[in-house]
Amino acid sequence: MADDPRILEAHRIPMLDLVDRLAIGGLKRAGGELVGPCPGCGGTDRFSINTQKGVMFCRRCDAKGDQIALVQLVMGMEFPAALEWLVGARQELTPAQRAEQARKAAEHRRAREADAARHRQDAIALARKIWSAARPADGTLVADYLDRRGIRQRPGAQLPRCFRFEPEARLVVPDEQRRGAYVSVHEGPAMLSAILDAQGDLTGVHRTWIDLGQPKGKVVAYHPAKAGEMVPSKKVYGSKKGGAIRIFTPRDASVMVMAEGIETTLSAMVAAAIDGRAAYWAGVDLGNMAGARKLGPGLKFAGLPDMTDRDAFVPPAWVRRLVFVQDGDSDPRLTRAKLLSGLRRAKALRPGLTAAIVHPGEGIDMNDLLMSATDVTQREGDE
Ligand SMILES: [Zn+2]
Repeated sequence: MADDPRILEAHRIPMLDLVDRLAIGGLKRAGGELVGPCPGCGGTDRFSINTQKGVMFCRRCDAKGDQIALVQLVMGMEFPAALEWLVGARQELTPAQRAEQARKAAEHRRAREADAARHRQDAIALARKIWSAARPADGTLVADYLDRRGIRQRPGAQLPRCFRFEPEARLVVPDEQRRGAYVSVHEGPAMLSAILDAQGDLTGVHRTWIDLGQPKGKVVAYHPAKAGEMVPSKKVYGSKKGGAIRIFTPRDASVMVMAEGIETTLSAMVAAAIDGRAAYWAGVDLGNMAGARKLGPGLKFAGLPDMTDRDAFVPPAWVRRLVFVQDGDSDPRLTRAKLLSGLRRAKALRPGLTAAIVHPGEGIDMNDLLMSATDVTQREGDE
């Protein structure tokens, strides 16, 4: 069976096509993966398909493997039957059978794409609703939070307009028991940041739950059902594709400094390490800054952009120099490769652009540097 040429043929079937043929529902894009309920054991987000690698994995029932394993899981078939279902019996499928399979797959693909577009529109509408309901940030906990992170405002200065304040925001996680339901983890004040797309339209919001009782000013929350598992105190609503949090954009800027996180971008702005007036935008997410990369043997750290990706961040035409800030990370080589991919994409699409990566040092977080610097000043002031 292992030398059956049909196995290779099965491996050439794109996972996305197979998802359509098997009509697996409820999967959502998350990075390079499709994530959702396991076709075998349910749940909400325990199951993932890596479409690049052509593999699937369930962290609950340990279902894992290739296209054939996925058919086995969904159809409840043994290996030979699954292989036959996928690519036909040892002899070829008839042209009519092939045409019928292709027609069914196309039908499901159209339905999936329409569903994804609807989901995206709903998410953007929710983000806009959250933004409209929030208050101006000046004089609120947002200023105190930024102050805690070492980002001081001159007295009377206004905060950037990309920030707003919410007195009561709910942090929830999916309910593992009931599909589509959520469990509340925390409720309290939050900093809201606007994510604008390339056209300047608000397509998403980024929330940070504030707790000034914590050293970093952020809520520390634990998952109600999973012992010891932390729930991130930041969340994006809507779409961040190609977007950015536009913290500061001087009129005559030709340089853009961008980090993934808001605090890091602000830290670079406070440090003002760049000569002249630069724009400071947060890229929200490393994947958005990097875009899809060319992958394959030996390419993991190559940092080559896949130029067919039209959704990644591209700087506006007025940017002549783009500087990405690399932050302290568990995998600096991979982070650098991703940033390189984004810079190379930008250079290819914006002829004449120059680009650079600044890195405060391995394992060093730019905002930690700033916060520690602030502490020294405070102590000196106290003495
Ligand atoms: Zn499972």
